[in-house]
Amino acid sequence: MALEVELRRIALPLRRPFRTAHGTMTTRELLLVRVVTEAGDGWGECAALDHSGYSGEDVATAHAALRDELVPALRAGAAAPSAAAVWHLPGRPAHPMAAAALEAALLDSELRAGGLSLAAHLGGTRSEVEAGVALGIPPALPELLDQVAAALAEGYRRVKLKVRPGWDVEPVAAIRDRFGDAVVLQVDANGAYSPADAGHLAALDRFDLAMIEQPLAAPSLTAHAALARAVRTPVCLDESITSAGVAAEAIALGAAAVINLKPGRMGGMLEAVRAHDACHRSGTPAWCGGMLESGLGRAANLALASLPGFTLPGDLTPPERYLAADITAPLPRRGAMMAVPTGPGAVAVDLDALEAATVSVEVLK
Ligand code: MG
Repeated sequence: MALEVELRRIALPLRRPFRTAHGTMTTRELLLVRVVTEAGDGWGECAALDHSGYSGEDVATAHAALRDELVPALRAGAAAPSAAAVWHLPGRPAHPMAAAALEAALLDSELRAGGLSLAAHLGGTRSEVEAGVALGIPPALPELLDQVAAALAEGYRRVKLKVRPGWDVEPVAAIRDRFGDAVVLQVDANGAYSPADAGHLAALDRFDLAMIEQPLAAPSLTAHAALARAVRTPVCLDESITSAGVAAEAIALGAAAVINLKPGRMGGMLEAVRAHDACHRSGTPAWCGGMLESGLGRAANLALASLPGFTLPGDLTPPERYLAADITAPLPRRGAMMAVPTGPGAVAVDLDALEAATVSVEVLK
């Protein structure tokens, strides 16, 4: 069966530079996958960033993996190309974000053809989900406090702060000092600490944080379990959770009291649902993380977050909060609550806006 695939690179300017333990981003460069099958067409967004600091994949390596490995393998397979077939491609484990984008596009085409929304297909049970704000490392403390004040004024309750050695206790203390318990506060280290920092991280215990996310470099589950015993703040894992199996193992080891689920990191939405099921069965709170998605990727994450095991606010704010341009219509928000899209597939792409943001298009032969 014919499978047409287009790899499109786009660039969306950020409203303000986004700084984490790995570097600073001013433009969100994104790779999109468009497929045309006998069922129809569909779009998928690749979560990879323009640098490989988060997971080892970046936009360029994901693009190459799709062109040289994943799409050829899918076309060569005995079965008709389908979203479910992507999981079995030999290149998938080495390129989870690339594979997830291909799966998303195929799933989108299948659901559009059937007139079914992604949330309904995945087993979503909610029409709205709660979003929290994620703040990068600002140039200085006053700007951080202004950003927290703005988030609370917009109706958000949860604020997540990026931290790293040298920027952790002081900003947390300043936020608690100014806003008290009005804010549900959590921090994300993106793996910037080592096991030797356990004593330092215990200094965060007195601030009643909802969690500390990925304190140690991935994928050390045993080291995170030891850290979890040494600090009172609940440990949440993000980068470490590369599959549903790893999620179950992290829970069993006591390495994660909370789990951040991202379809890109796990090789696809279908595996993210299986990881959700592992969390839900064990009573481990889960939430849906973000990768500064466009409206397309964020709409898909809203669908995922509508499943019953996503019990904590996710990185699900409307993209216009961080992007100065987008490729979909605005995603509806009511205070901290985001509407789960109900149209066919993930969400409609605005083709004019897409064209304006396009840097390059490669049609795979
Ligand atoms: Mg994270």
